[in-house]
Amino acid sequence: MLFRIIINIFVFLLIIIECNSQVLIKAPNDGEIFIDMYPKSGEKVYKKVNINGTTWLAENLQAKTFNNGELIFHAKTDKEWREAGDFNKPAWRFHNYDPNNSESFGYEYNWFAVVDSRGIVPDGYIIPFKSDYVNLVNHFGGWDIAAYKLKSKIGWADYCLGGEKLVNCTNCSNWSADYRKIVPCHKCKGNQTVKISTPIVKRTGNGNNSSGFSAIPTRLGLTSCGYDYRLWKPKSKNYLGQTAWWTLDDDGSKFAYAFFIENINNVYFQLEFKYEGFPVRCYFGG
Ligand SMILES: [Zn+2]
Repeated sequence: MLFRIIINIFVFLLIIIECNSQVLIKAPNDGEIFIDMYPKSGEKVYKKVNINGTTWLAENLQAKTFNNGELIFHAKTDKEWREAGDFNKPAWRFHNYDPNNSESFGYEYNWFAVVDSRGIVPDGYIIPFKSDYVNLVNHFGGWDIAAYKLKSKIGWADYCLGGEKLVNCTNCSNWSADYRKIVPCHKCKGNQTVKISTPIVKRTGNGNNSSGFSAIPTRLGLTSCGYDYRLWKPKSKNYLGQTAWWTLDDDGSKFAYAFFIENINNVYFQLEFKYEGFPVRCYFGG
Protein backbone atom coordinates (compact mmCIF):
# COMPACT_ATOMS: atom_id res chain seq x y z
CA MET A 1 0.00 0.00 0.00
CA LEU A 2 2.71 2.45 1.04
CA PHE A 3 4.62 1.56 -2.13
CA ARG A 4 1.54 2.35 -4.24
CA ILE A 5 1.12 5.73 -2.51
CA ILE A 6 4.76 6.58 -3.21
CA ILE A 7 4.37 5.61 -6.86
CA ASN A 8 1.21 7.75 -7.12
CA ILE A 9 2.98 10.75 -5.59
CA PHE A 10 5.84 10.26 -8.04
CA VAL A 11 3.46 10.12 -11.03
CA PHE A 12 1.59 13.15 -9.70
CA LEU A 13 4.87 15.13 -9.47
CA LEU A 14 5.81 14.11 -13.01
CA ILE A 15 2.44 15.40 -14.27
CA ILE A 16 2.96 18.71 -12.45
CA ILE A 17 6.45 19.13 -13.95
CA GLU A 18 5.12 18.31 -17.43
CA CYS A 19 2.20 20.77 -17.12
CA ASN A 20 4.54 23.47 -15.88
CA SER A 21 6.93 23.32 -18.81
CA GLN A 22 5.92 26.87 -19.79
CA VAL A 23 5.61 28.09 -16.20
CA LEU A 24 8.21 30.52 -14.93
CA ILE A 25 9.99 30.93 -11.65
CA LYS A 26 8.24 34.29 -11.33
CA ALA A 27 5.86 36.05 -13.70
CA PRO A 28 8.05 38.60 -15.50
CA ASN A 29 7.22 42.27 -15.75
CA ASP A 30 6.94 44.05 -19.08
CA GLY A 31 10.37 44.15 -20.73
CA GLU A 32 11.91 41.66 -18.31
CA ILE A 33 14.06 38.99 -19.97
CA PHE A 34 13.62 35.44 -18.66
CA ILE A 35 14.18 31.78 -19.53
CA ASP A 36 11.68 28.97 -19.07
CA MET A 37 11.98 27.04 -15.81
CA TYR A 38 11.58 23.66 -17.53
CA PRO A 39 12.64 23.81 -21.18
CA LYS A 40 11.69 20.75 -23.20
CA SER A 41 14.62 18.37 -23.54
CA GLY A 42 16.53 18.79 -26.78
CA GLU A 43 15.13 22.25 -27.41
CA LYS A 44 17.41 25.27 -27.45
CA VAL A 45 16.86 27.39 -24.38
CA TYR A 46 15.97 30.85 -25.69
CA LYS A 47 15.96 34.06 -23.75
CA LYS A 48 12.41 35.40 -23.79
CA VAL A 49 10.72 38.65 -22.91
CA ASN A 50 7.21 39.66 -21.92
CA ILE A 51 6.01 42.54 -24.10
CA ASN A 52 2.51 43.81 -23.45
CA GLY A 53 1.39 40.37 -22.26
CA THR A 54 2.96 38.47 -25.18
CA THR A 55 6.03 36.26 -24.87
CA TRP A 56 8.64 37.00 -27.57
CA LEU A 57 12.01 35.40 -28.16
CA ALA A 58 14.59 37.93 -26.93
CA GLU A 59 17.15 36.54 -29.40
CA ASN A 60 17.18 35.38 -33.00
CA LEU A 61 16.03 31.89 -33.96
CA GLN A 62 18.59 29.05 -34.10
CA ALA A 63 16.73 26.11 -35.65
CA LYS A 64 18.59 23.61 -37.82
CA THR A 65 15.58 21.35 -38.31
CA PHE A 66 11.98 21.68 -39.28
CA ASN A 67 9.46 20.78 -36.58
CA ASN A 68 9.05 17.26 -38.03
CA GLY A 69 12.76 16.64 -37.40
CA GLU A 70 13.95 16.93 -41.01
CA LEU A 71 17.10 18.99 -41.50
CA ILE A 72 16.90 22.46 -43.04
CA PHE A 73 19.66 22.71 -45.67
CA HIS A 74 22.73 24.33 -44.11
CA ALA A 75 24.49 26.54 -46.69
CA LYS A 76 28.17 26.72 -45.75
CA THR A 77 29.33 28.99 -48.58
CA ASP A 78 27.94 31.88 -50.58
CA LYS A 79 27.77 29.56 -53.61
CA GLU A 80 25.62 27.01 -51.72
CA TRP A 81 23.42 29.83 -50.47
CA ARG A 82 22.83 31.19 -53.97
CA GLU A 83 22.13 27.72 -55.37
CA ALA A 84 19.53 27.06 -52.66
CA GLY A 85 17.84 30.33 -53.60
CA ASP A 86 17.87 29.48 -57.30
CA PHE A 87 15.96 26.24 -56.59
CA ASN A 88 13.53 27.75 -54.03
CA LYS A 89 15.10 25.48 -51.44
CA PRO A 90 14.74 26.30 -47.72
CA ALA A 91 18.16 27.08 -46.22
CA TRP A 92 19.94 28.57 -43.22
CA ARG A 93 23.46 29.87 -42.67
CA PHE A 94 25.64 31.34 -39.97
CA HIS A 95 26.18 35.11 -40.12
CA ASN A 96 29.12 35.48 -42.56
CA TYR A 97 29.17 31.63 -42.67
CA ASP A 98 31.04 31.69 -39.36
CA PRO A 99 29.84 29.24 -36.63
CA ASN A 100 31.31 31.54 -33.97
CA ASN A 101 28.58 34.04 -34.82
CA SER A 102 25.63 31.84 -33.87
CA GLU A 103 25.25 32.91 -30.23
CA SER A 104 25.23 36.65 -30.91
CA PHE A 105 23.49 36.76 -34.30
CA GLY A 106 21.36 33.62 -34.39
CA TYR A 107 20.96 31.98 -37.81
CA GLU A 108 19.96 33.57 -41.11
CA TYR A 109 17.22 31.95 -43.21
CA ASN A 110 15.96 32.40 -46.72
CA TRP A 111 12.26 33.07 -47.34
CA PHE A 112 11.65 29.49 -48.47
CA ALA A 113 12.53 28.24 -44.97
CA VAL A 114 10.27 30.83 -43.35
CA VAL A 115 7.13 29.82 -45.28
CA ASP A 116 7.81 26.05 -45.36
CA SER A 117 4.76 24.22 -44.01
CA ARG A 118 6.96 21.97 -41.83
CA GLY A 119 7.61 25.00 -39.58
CA ILE A 120 10.91 26.31 -38.18
CA VAL A 121 9.84 28.10 -34.97
CA PRO A 122 9.20 26.28 -31.66
CA ASP A 123 5.82 24.66 -30.97
CA GLY A 124 3.10 27.25 -30.41
CA TYR A 125 5.25 30.13 -31.69
CA ILE A 126 4.34 32.38 -34.62
CA ILE A 127 6.54 34.26 -37.10
CA PRO A 128 5.31 37.86 -36.83
CA PHE A 129 3.00 39.37 -39.41
CA LYS A 130 3.51 43.00 -40.43
CA SER A 131 0.66 44.01 -38.11
CA ASP A 132 2.48 42.34 -35.18
CA TYR A 133 5.54 44.51 -35.79
CA VAL A 134 3.31 47.58 -36.24
CA ASN A 135 1.77 46.82 -32.82
CA LEU A 136 5.26 46.42 -31.35
CA VAL A 137 6.33 49.80 -32.75
CA ASN A 138 3.16 51.47 -31.47
CA HIS A 139 3.56 49.90 -28.03
CA PHE A 140 7.00 51.50 -27.76
CA GLY A 141 5.97 55.01 -28.69
CA GLY A 142 5.69 54.94 -32.50
CA TRP A 143 8.02 55.08 -35.51
CA ASP A 144 10.30 57.86 -34.21
CA ILE A 145 11.12 56.40 -30.82
CA ALA A 146 10.53 52.62 -30.91
CA ALA A 147 13.90 51.71 -32.47
CA TYR A 148 15.77 53.24 -29.53
CA LYS A 149 13.78 51.07 -27.10
CA LEU A 150 14.06 47.89 -29.21
CA LYS A 151 17.84 48.03 -29.77
CA SER A 152 20.49 46.49 -27.54
CA LYS A 153 22.67 48.78 -25.44
CA ILE A 154 25.85 47.75 -27.23
CA GLY A 155 27.03 46.70 -30.69
CA TRP A 156 25.41 49.35 -32.93
CA ALA A 157 27.62 51.56 -35.08
CA ASP A 158 27.73 55.29 -34.41
CA TYR A 159 26.20 57.55 -37.00
CA CYS A 160 27.05 61.08 -38.03
CA LEU A 161 24.84 64.08 -38.66
CA GLY A 162 25.87 67.23 -40.47
CA GLY A 163 28.65 67.79 -42.97
CA GLU A 164 28.21 69.18 -46.47
CA LYS A 165 24.98 68.81 -48.39
CA LEU A 166 23.16 70.38 -51.33
CA VAL A 167 19.90 72.23 -50.66
CA ASN A 168 17.54 74.15 -52.95
CA CYS A 169 18.56 77.76 -53.52
CA THR A 170 16.09 79.94 -51.66
CA ASN A 171 17.07 83.08 -53.59
CA CYS A 172 15.68 81.93 -56.95
CA SER A 173 13.24 79.14 -56.05
CA ASN A 174 10.21 81.27 -57.04
CA TRP A 175 11.63 82.51 -60.33
CA SER A 176 9.97 81.48 -63.57
CA ALA A 177 11.95 79.58 -66.20
CA ASP A 178 11.85 82.62 -68.53
CA TYR A 179 13.10 84.97 -65.82
CA ARG A 180 15.95 82.56 -65.02
CA LYS A 181 17.13 82.83 -68.64
CA ILE A 182 17.36 86.61 -68.44
CA VAL A 183 18.67 87.09 -64.88
CA PRO A 184 21.37 84.77 -63.54
CA CYS A 185 21.02 84.01 -59.81
CA HIS A 186 24.11 85.34 -58.04
CA LYS A 187 23.68 82.90 -55.17
CA CYS A 188 23.62 79.55 -56.99
CA LYS A 189 25.03 80.61 -60.38
CA GLY A 190 21.96 79.13 -62.05
CA ASN A 191 22.38 75.64 -60.46
CA GLN A 192 19.27 76.15 -58.30
CA THR A 193 21.10 74.37 -55.47
CA VAL A 194 23.67 75.59 -52.98
CA LYS A 195 26.11 73.70 -50.80
CA ILE A 196 25.68 74.20 -47.07
CA SER A 197 27.96 72.95 -44.35
CA THR A 198 27.05 72.16 -40.76
CA PRO A 199 29.30 70.73 -38.04
CA ILE A 200 29.56 66.93 -38.03
CA VAL A 201 27.98 65.50 -34.88
CA LYS A 202 28.55 61.89 -33.91
CA ARG A 203 25.67 60.01 -32.28
CA THR A 204 25.58 56.54 -30.78
CA GLY A 205 23.55 53.96 -32.70
CA ASN A 206 22.86 51.96 -29.54
CA GLY A 207 19.45 51.80 -27.90
CA ASN A 208 18.42 51.57 -24.25
CA ASN A 209 16.64 48.21 -24.71
CA SER A 210 13.88 49.19 -22.28
CA SER A 211 11.68 46.78 -24.27
CA GLY A 212 13.93 43.80 -23.53
CA PHE A 213 13.60 42.93 -27.24
CA SER A 214 17.41 43.12 -27.61
CA ALA A 215 17.70 43.86 -31.33
CA ILE A 216 21.30 43.13 -32.38
CA PRO A 217 22.74 44.68 -35.58
CA THR A 218 23.49 42.14 -38.31
CA ARG A 219 24.01 44.35 -41.36
CA LEU A 220 26.04 47.38 -42.44
CA GLY A 221 24.84 50.72 -41.14
CA LEU A 222 24.49 52.99 -44.15
CA THR A 223 25.28 56.19 -42.28
CA SER A 224 27.97 54.77 -40.09
CA CYS A 225 30.78 57.21 -39.33
CA GLY A 226 33.16 54.27 -39.33
CA TYR A 227 32.41 53.27 -42.90
CA ASP A 228 34.39 54.54 -45.85
CA TYR A 229 32.22 54.41 -48.98
CA ARG A 230 35.10 55.26 -51.31
CA LEU A 231 36.96 52.15 -50.14
CA TRP A 232 33.69 50.25 -49.71
CA LYS A 233 34.92 48.74 -46.48
CA PRO A 234 34.67 49.49 -42.77
CA LYS A 235 37.29 51.69 -41.13
CA SER A 236 36.64 49.97 -37.82
CA LYS A 237 35.12 46.72 -36.61
CA ASN A 238 32.10 48.48 -35.17
CA TYR A 239 30.22 49.18 -38.39
CA LEU A 240 27.07 47.09 -37.96
CA GLY A 241 24.16 49.49 -37.93
CA GLN A 242 21.11 47.70 -39.29
CA THR A 243 19.14 44.52 -38.81
CA ALA A 244 15.96 43.03 -40.24
CA TRP A 245 13.75 40.02 -39.60
CA TRP A 246 11.58 38.17 -42.05
CA THR A 247 7.96 39.25 -41.70
CA LEU A 248 4.82 37.60 -43.00
CA ASP A 249 2.51 39.78 -45.02
CA ASP A 250 -0.95 40.12 -43.50
CA ASP A 251 -2.39 39.35 -46.94
CA GLY A 252 -0.57 36.02 -47.31
CA SER A 253 2.89 34.62 -47.93
CA LYS A 254 3.27 35.73 -51.57
CA PHE A 255 5.41 38.76 -50.76
CA ALA A 256 8.62 38.51 -48.75
CA TYR A 257 8.88 41.47 -46.39
CA ALA A 258 11.48 42.24 -43.77
CA PHE A 259 11.14 44.55 -40.79
CA PHE A 260 14.17 46.83 -40.49
CA ILE A 261 15.71 48.68 -37.55
CA GLU A 262 18.68 51.01 -38.02
CA ASN A 263 21.30 52.76 -35.94
CA ILE A 264 19.77 56.09 -37.06
CA ASN A 265 16.52 54.91 -35.38
CA ASN A 266 14.62 54.29 -38.59
CA VAL A 267 12.09 51.45 -38.56
CA TYR A 268 10.40 50.30 -41.74
CA PHE A 269 9.24 47.38 -43.86
CA GLN A 270 10.93 46.53 -47.14
CA LEU A 271 10.07 44.03 -49.86
CA GLU A 272 12.99 41.61 -50.25
CA PHE A 273 14.26 38.99 -52.67
CA LYS A 274 13.31 35.55 -51.38
CA TYR A 275 16.91 34.30 -51.57
CA GLU A 276 18.09 36.95 -49.10
CA GLY A 277 19.18 35.82 -45.62
CA PHE A 278 17.59 37.37 -42.54
CA PRO A 279 17.20 36.33 -38.91
CA VAL A 280 13.81 35.34 -37.52
CA ARG A 281 12.02 36.33 -34.31
CA CYS A 282 8.78 34.83 -33.10
CA TYR A 283 6.23 35.13 -30.32
CA PHE A 284 4.12 32.63 -28.39
CA GLY A 285 0.65 32.42 -29.87
CA GLY A 286 -0.72 29.57 -27.69
ZN1 LIG B 1 19.66 80.56 -56.99
